Amino acid sequence: SKPVLAIVGRPNVGKSTIFNRLIGERLAIVEDKPGVTRDRIYSSADWLHHQFFIIDTGGIEITNEPLMEQMRAQAELAIDEADVICFVVNGRDGITGADEEVARLLQRSNKPVVIAVNKLDDPTMHDKLYEFYSLGVGDVFPVSGSHGLGLGDLLDAAASYF
Ligand code: GDP
Ligand code: MG
Repeated sequence: SKPVLAIVGRPNVGKSTIFNRLIGERLAIVEDKPGVTRDRIYSSADWLHHQFFIIDTGGIEITNEPLMEQMRAQAELAIDEADVICFVVNGRDGITGADEEVARLLQRSNKPVVIAVNKLDDPTMHDKLYEFYSLGVGDVFPVSGSHGLGLGDLLDAAASYF
């Protein structure tokens, strides 16, 4: 069966934007506001000769649960279902407590993780990349979901775990 790539990360870092880029269609709901209701999102995708499934775990909502519980459930789903996890962070914000919480959950799993350091729309921002190595979960890749930059290298790294 096809390998599964799961996208995880705190709200508003750009998970759905990256998901949309990877599936090549505008299927996911992209919202400026964190915490809005979203549909569960699965899709098949292709990268070079790889065919795989993608899950945008941010689209899985557990109503009336606090943010941290939602993120925990999403990370657990990713850990259970995925062959490789794409952990999305906001490169402009630097590491937040919520990022560290997600990283802690991912560390406890044995799943391979690639970190998409998103919103680095310009190469002059790439110096923001390196601090994310300290999350201790995987290699870091500068990307811009909204500009479609860096996703090839990210997917090459992810596909090496398929
Ligand atoms: P999610 O909550 O993690 O799914 O995040 P979304 O994909 O909904 O994106 C949240 C906000 O960040 C939206 O306003 C997006 O347009 C914006 N965004 C996403 N990716 C990028 C990016 O690469 N650069 C910039 N500047 N904004 C982005
Ligand atoms: Mg989303």
